[in-house]
Amino acid sequence: MTRAVRIPGKDEDLRAALEDVNLPNLLMVLTQLTNEDRWLSPRFAPEPIVAPEGSMFPDDSGGYADAVATEIREAAFGVLKELRDGQRQLPPPPTLDRFTEMMSFSVAEPVAREYAAMLLEETGFIDRDEQWRSDLNRAQQLSEQGDFRVIVIGAGMSGLGMAAKLKEARIPFTVIEKNDAVGGTWYENSYPDCGVDTPNHFYSFSFERNPDWSGYFSKRDELYAYFERCADDFDVRQHIRLETEVLFARYDDGRKLWDVRIRDRDGAEETLTANAVVSAVGQLNRPFIPEIEGMGSFAGPLFHSARWEHEHDLDGKRVAVIGTGASAVQFLPKTAVRAAKVTVFQRSPHWVSPSRDYYRPVEEGLKWALNHIPYYAEWHRARMIWGFADRTWPAVNADPSWPHPERAMNEASDQMRAALTEYIRSELGERQDLFEKCLPDFPVWGKRLIVDNGWYRTIARDNVELVTDGVDRIVPEGVISGDGALHEVDVIILATGFKTNLFLWPMEVVGRSGATLAERWGDYPRAYKGITVPDFPNLFCLYGPNTNIVHGGSVIYQVECQIHYVMQCLTAMIAGGIAALEVREAVNDGYNDRVQAISEKLAWGHPGVQSWYKNSQGRVVNNSPFSLQQYWEVTHDLDLNDYLVETDNTGDRASAG
Ligand code: NAP
Repeated sequence: MTRAVRIPGKDEDLRAALEDVNLPNLLMVLTQLTNEDRWLSPRFAPEPIVAPEGSMFPDDSGGYADAVATEIREAAFGVLKELRDGQRQLPPPPTLDRFTEMMSFSVAEPVAREYAAMLLEETGFIDRDEQWRSDLNRAQQLSEQGDFRVIVIGAGMSGLGMAAKLKEARIPFTVIEKNDAVGGTWYENSYPDCGVDTPNHFYSFSFERNPDWSGYFSKRDELYAYFERCADDFDVRQHIRLETEVLFARYDDGRKLWDVRIRDRDGAEETLTANAVVSAVGQLNRPFIPEIEGMGSFAGPLFHSARWEHEHDLDGKRVAVIGTGASAVQFLPKTAVRAAKVTVFQRSPHWVSPSRDYYRPVEEGLKWALNHIPYYAEWHRARMIWGFADRTWPAVNADPSWPHPERAMNEASDQMRAALTEYIRSELGERQDLFEKCLPDFPVWGKRLIVDNGWYRTIARDNVELVTDGVDRIVPEGVISGDGALHEVDVIILATGFKTNLFLWPMEVVGRSGATLAERWGDYPRAYKGITVPDFPNLFCLYGPNTNIVHGGSVIYQVECQIHYVMQCLTAMIAGGIAALEVREAVNDGYNDRVQAISEKLAWGHPGVQSWYKNSQGRVVNNSPFSLQQYWEVTHDLDLNDYLVETDNTGDRASAG
């Protein structure tokens, strides 16, 4: 289908925008709008995408000679002017073959068809919801939905995304949120310089793009505002109960329903009933407070990075920071320029990567293009995903013939290690005495690479001390390190991360047999595709076990894959009269055996890595063992044969096959 389009503004606006845009993206827009193959000829072939030494953020600008760049801009100007003036029609989205060809040309390397298929959905060129929409619509027209209801727990990113789809699908639902606002992580974390480390045009819902991000990596206030806006744009606010906590959720095998006990802001308790429950509680929302002797005796303020106490002025203060993960790396530089002294207690160093775009504002012309040039936003997203996400996947996989498995997974990972090691040296400048303390002893990508915002330069400052002797205890005046030295401080900030292995904690979730999820899982949580759990029919987890991404990518992408899968499950239930949908034990076991077998050969499963991704037995329980594209495949199609189903009123625990 073709349709007319109007591009607003004057010629000058269009010309100005074309100066700021990425040329390979523009070339693809031009190719799509004209359907002329000449734009895919060698004259217009871009340079391959390259990541500057040691950086995971690539340069995809194409490297065109001035004459070719001008030719592309002039041609695009002409075509877009015609579109604006109504002399052209907008062509339909590309076919899979054409898109694969165009993607491969624009990134100067072969793009697999399967990858292109995923990108077609991520860009919205193909509407992935069509997979469930028509079946659901048909059932709803036949009034088969009955009083089917869903309860979503959490109104952060995952809960809002789920709510958006439930609303669109006209499935009644309620979202229960413990905070007094939506936004989850981006509401709770407000420490200085808090922001995203995934390019923002990817870190946003595929179905709710934001063409107006102010930066390539925006900061907390803008991210929080985005999710607030999502709640309005999705028109879901009236379904969200804020300041209400779920105490327990219990599956009633007789009624095939979930009873969800909640407590509101006034302490009043109530039991809600639903056919399905979706947990959208996140992995990083319950701060981990280590048990350090004497913590209660400290005379000054002591708080966790995710519960930043802004009322304490840090100007001229002596501050202790315990922990050196992504949160500490983000807030330390801004803290060190204000404090009299900062003492950083580091248990183990992380790998930190440079990024040229970290503080780069988005050019006005690019915002204009994202808003107004047809298909520009789609190509921008597709090529950004290609450049940022799975290109690092080969480097995280163990090469069995690689001779130095103690330090790297393979040659590519070793090259990255060498480049990042050099980066540490260059950033430390005259403070090379700190080099050994800053050098991690595990392979790159063993933990998520942290984007640098001046970490080493801050560590090298005169008013910063890096302590690596451990924390022995806390006394009223400060912190005693492992070597017995007293570090006198006025404020202690715990940047010690989150309770990550206790999924869904502290809620009590009781399954069909009466056992709780906590009893079933212990500290080895496992779910089928990270989503469904045997003995817990009609329970769906978003951002559940083994779904976090380390090698590069957006957790919103992962969650959208899960929401897509959940929508298929709900559609199957509504359209098929299924009262209970429970993943088979053997299917779940087989899947998780595979997850563990793959994880052992990935950088984050490396025996030298101690992290929040692993449980007490060293199993990786948080991270996905799949590339983004692989996980898209894993979650793309519901196979009811994986499930035991009970249809309405029969009580049958039948195989679906
Ligand atoms: P984290 O990565 O878990 O780091 C916690 C830090 O505290 C680590 O350095 C850890 O040391 C240390 N620690 C824990 N217990 C300790 C103890 N008893 N004594 C001394 N040190 C202790 O937590 P985070 O920095 O809050 O980040 C959590 C996750 O949130 C990240 O991995 C990332 O996925 C996400 N995040 C993302 C961004 C972003 O997008 N830019 C920003 C912040 C957080 P060890 O390393 O030795 O365990």
